[in-house]
Amino acid sequence: MPFYSEYVFMTTFMARFSVDLLPLSRYCHGMQQFPIPSVIRRFSQQFSQAGFSLYIVGGAVRDHLLGIENEDFDFTTDAKPEEVMQLFNAVIPTGIDHGTVTVRFEKHSFEVTTFRSEGSYQDGRHPSSVTFLTNLEEDLKRRDFTINAFAVDLNDSKIIDLNGGKKDLKQRTIKAIGDPRERFEEDGLRILRACRFAGKLNFNITEDTLKAMHACRENLRNVSGERIRDELFRLVLSDHPEMGLNYMRECGILPIILPELAAGDQIDQKGMHHEDVLSHAISTCQASVAISNRLEVRLAALLHDIGKSEVMEEGETRNTFYNHDLVGEKLTISLLKRLKASNDQIRLVSLLVRHHMFSYQSNWSDSAVRRFLTRVGKEHVGMLFSLRIADQIAIHGKPDIRLLEELEQRIKSILDAQDALSIKDLAVNGNDLMQAGIPKGKQLGKILEYLLETVLDDPKQNTREQLLEIAKHYQSLSNFTN
Ligand code: ATP
Ligand code: MG
Repeated sequence: MPFYSEYVFMTTFMARFSVDLLPLSRYCHGMQQFPIPSVIRRFSQQFSQAGFSLYIVGGAVRDHLLGIENEDFDFTTDAKPEEVMQLFNAVIPTGIDHGTVTVRFEKHSFEVTTFRSEGSYQDGRHPSSVTFLTNLEEDLKRRDFTINAFAVDLNDSKIIDLNGGKKDLKQRTIKAIGDPRERFEEDGLRILRACRFAGKLNFNITEDTLKAMHACRENLRNVSGERIRDELFRLVLSDHPEMGLNYMRECGILPIILPELAAGDQIDQKGMHHEDVLSHAISTCQASVAISNRLEVRLAALLHDIGKSEVMEEGETRNTFYNHDLVGEKLTISLLKRLKASNDQIRLVSLLVRHHMFSYQSNWSDSAVRRFLTRVGKEHVGMLFSLRIADQIAIHGKPDIRLLEELEQRIKSILDAQDALSIKDLAVNGNDLMQAGIPKGKQLGKILEYLLETVLDDPKQNTREQLLEIAKHYQSLSNFTN
C-alpha cells in the first residue's frame, strides 16, 4: 500500500462491484416480498396501532429489486405531519411545507412524507399548493420515474408497482411517469435526475423521456444551485458517470448548468488527444471511477481541462493551451461557488486542477521534489496522482505509472527524513526572530519565506542557530539596501 491512501493499484480496480453483472431477471421474477428489517417493523407498528398506513418508497425498493444495497429508507403515510409528530417523541419538521418530517427512532433517522398530490408548479420549483391525500396511488404517480415509484406495504411486505416500474427495470430503462413533458415542466431538476440515475444504474433513458428532457431543458435555469449540486455530485460519484454526462450533453443541459464545461465541446486538440476537450473530460471522469471514490478527485477529473477553451491558440499541427491550468483553477472556483459547494471542496478541487500539469522527470533534484511537495501539499499528492492516472487512462487507455512510482519513492524518502516543507516546519518561528531583534511586520514574513527557500534547497540548514544567523544576515543586508 502506498504511503498515502488515495492511490490504489490497478488490480483492485477490476474487482469493483458493478450493477452490469447482476442477473436482473433473477431479481425481478417472483420477488414480490421485501425483507423488512426488524427496526422498521417496530417503527411501522407505531403507525398501524394508531390506525395509519405506512409504506417504504423510493430508492430502497428499486435497489432491492436490482440486488443493490441501499439502507436509505424513505416512507410515505396517510398520517398528517402533525399526527406523525404526536406518535413519536423526537420528530424534526425537516420539510414540513412538503409534508416531510424526520423521525428519530431507535437511533435511526427516518424521513416520513404524507401522501401528496401537488398542484401546479408555477416557477418550476415549488408546488403552488400541496394537498395531503389518503391515496398511495396518487402519491406514486407524482414521483419522477417509473423505477422510483415502487412502494412496500409494511403490513404484508408486498412490493406495489402501479406504474410499470418492474418492466422498465428489466429493460434497464429510465422513463418518466405519465407525460414526460409535464413532469419536467413541474420540476426541471428531474432532467438532471434522469441523467444521475442513468449513471448510477447504467440504464438507458427512453426516447420519449429524452426528447422531453431536451424540450424542457431551459427549466433547469429555475433550479437552485444546491439542488443541482446534490444531483451532479451523486452522478459524479456513481459507477457510470460517463453514461449520465453523455445524456446531459445529448439533451442540451450542459450549456445551461455547466457552461464552462460545455465550452470544450468540439474543441479539437490536434495532438496526442484523440477526443475533443469535453469528451476527454467525460472520459477522465469515467476513468477516475476505478481509481478513487473521493468526490474531489472525480470532480477534478471532470473539470481539469476547463481552462482550455479560454486559452486555446490554433496551430498547424497542434493547438496549444498555455496556462489552461491557471485559468482552469479560476473557472473551477467560480463554477463550484455557483453550485454552493463547501469551501473545502472548492479549495481541494481547484488545487488539483491548478497542479494537474506537473511533469516529473528523473532528473529533478531533491530540492525540486521538496518544492513540488510544498506547492501541492503532501496530503494532496495522492489525489493528484489519482487524477494523473485517470487522465492518462483517458488518453492512452492505460496509465504509465513508472515515473509516478519513482516520484512516490522519492517523496517517501523526503517525508521519512522529515525535511521541512513549510514555514511551520522551520526550526525557528516568528517569535524567535522577534527575540533576535527583527521587528514584527512584512519583513518578518519575507524572512521566514527566505528561510524556507533555504532549507528546501538544503535541509541541513534547518537548525535554530543556522537559521537565526541567516535571518540576521538577511536583515542587515536589507537595512543596508533600504
Ligand atoms: P438514491 O438511492 O440514489 O438516493 P432515490 O430513488 O432514493 O435514489 P432520492 O433523491 O433519495 O432518490 O429520492 C427518493 C424518492 O423520492 C425517489 O425515488 C422518487 O420517488 C422521489 N423523488 C425525489 N426527488 C424527486 C423529484 N424531484 N420529483 C419527483 N420525485 C422525486
Ligand atoms: Mg434516496
